[in-house]
Amino acid sequence: EKVETGWNFDHSYARLPELFFQSSDPEPAHAHRLIIANDRLADYLGLNTEWLHSEEGKEVLAGNIVPDSAFPLAQAYAGHQFGHFTMLGDGRALLLGEQITPQDERVDIQLKGSGRTPYSRGGDGRAPLGPMLREYIISEAMHALGVPTNRSLAVVATGESVIRETEQPGAVLTRVASSHLRVGTFQFAARWGTLEDLRALADYTVHRHFPTIESDENRYLSLLQQVIERQAKLIAKWQLIGFIHGVMNTDNMAISGETIDYGPCAFMNTYDPATVFSSIDIQGRYAYGNQPDIAGWNLVRFAETLIPLIHENQDEAIKIAERELSHFTSLYEANWLDGMRRKLGIFNQETEDKELAEDLLRMMKEYKADFTNTFRALTFDRLEDMSIFEAPEFKKWLEQWRNRLDRQEESKDTSYQLMKNNNPAVIPRNHRVEEAIEAAVKEEDFSVLEQLLGVLSNPYAHSCEQEAYTAPPEPTSQPYRTFCG
Ligand code: AMP
Ligand code: MG
Ligand code: MG
Repeated sequence: EKVETGWNFDHSYARLPELFFQSSDPEPAHAHRLIIANDRLADYLGLNTEWLHSEEGKEVLAGNIVPDSAFPLAQAYAGHQFGHFTMLGDGRALLLGEQITPQDERVDIQLKGSGRTPYSRGGDGRAPLGPMLREYIISEAMHALGVPTNRSLAVVATGESVIRETEQPGAVLTRVASSHLRVGTFQFAARWGTLEDLRALADYTVHRHFPTIESDENRYLSLLQQVIERQAKLIAKWQLIGFIHGVMNTDNMAISGETIDYGPCAFMNTYDPATVFSSIDIQGRYAYGNQPDIAGWNLVRFAETLIPLIHENQDEAIKIAERELSHFTSLYEANWLDGMRRKLGIFNQETEDKELAEDLLRMMKEYKADFTNTFRALTFDRLEDMSIFEAPEFKKWLEQWRNRLDRQEESKDTSYQLMKNNNPAVIPRNHRVEEAIEAAVKEEDFSVLEQLLGVLSNPYAHSCEQEAYTAPPEPTSQPYRTFCG
């Protein structure tokens, strides 16, 4: 008797003009072991979790068996990588199809590390286990933190080696995203497609992600507006939890407003806007403090692709687009300030709130305070825990902040509840993530990983078991570096 899988694929992306993709099969690999599977996400997708954990499930997640209803394809896209424009495309990822969930939502199901595609260039199309586990941990943590993100369904170890700087065990990660349309998809269309191809892509995007603007008078301008708004929200959320994406190339900015591409990302410990983790980001282009400006830069690249659609008079189109783009910074700042107010337990608005937040950040930088733990200490009034709180200027700030809370109607308790819901107890700190990956990869001990995932799945719980995960790393002489997998 055949077990129901739960796949319910549609392939709307494959109905776009042909230049947007190439159909391509996964290259078979061993399916050595299902390392981790996200049963709750599987439930949401309408997948049969029993099947997912079966031999056949593992073969599908490794790319060895393609479900009958799937239509594997590699997506075409271009992008500015560290400022330089180039053709890219899915070099080691394949879209199996769009799963229509029981709630009638449409999400991409993508294999990463499933072998070479027509866009692989010199690459092997494969992925190492460590970075795939890292992506799984951080993307799921981001989701739990309330940040729009693609999700991780499963990691299968292939039992085969991939060669990077060293020989490493290979793996395939199954990702779930509301789509993989990127700024780079539009750049690809604008550079290599016809005007009709570009229009098809824009119409498709509006229909899939922004149905409410479909009948707008100028839907392409509305599209630009919507994407600007979503990025303003997203980047503010990153800043408010100390997330550093690490590789904000235009091909890694999703039109949906989700975080995608967890290569060299990491969370900040000590507060410093100049923080960079990526080993390849020598100039600090994608440093924490630069993220809002880089998002703005990427949005200009996006707007450029829409110019032919926005107005038949190109000078007019540029003027309209520029006006729209000029809102990004203030939108971002408004989102950021709203979030900062929540982190500080503030409900209403006063003009001085921005200064209050910035004063705190300035002191945090000066006293090398841990970003997450400073807000946590304020939330629980545990000021004796951190040296920053001994500074006389901080005492002055504390008085201002307390007076500020007294000036609003809400009770202290309501304020602290707001702070608890907005200041995570735990973030995926690098040393914890590395420890979990190392145990899994080197010793096949998955208990460290499972515990970490458990703790990260409810970052605002402030539970006792989380306490052990709140410590920043021991200071070392070597700064932490992330590498692309
Ligand atoms: P990323 O830096 O992850 O945004 O990837 C940039 C480009 O390199 C994308 O087109 C990827 O598909 C491609 N790529 C990265 N790693 C590999 C690999 N091992 N094999 C083939 N293509 C790759
Ligand atoms: Mg990418
Ligand atoms: Mg990547």
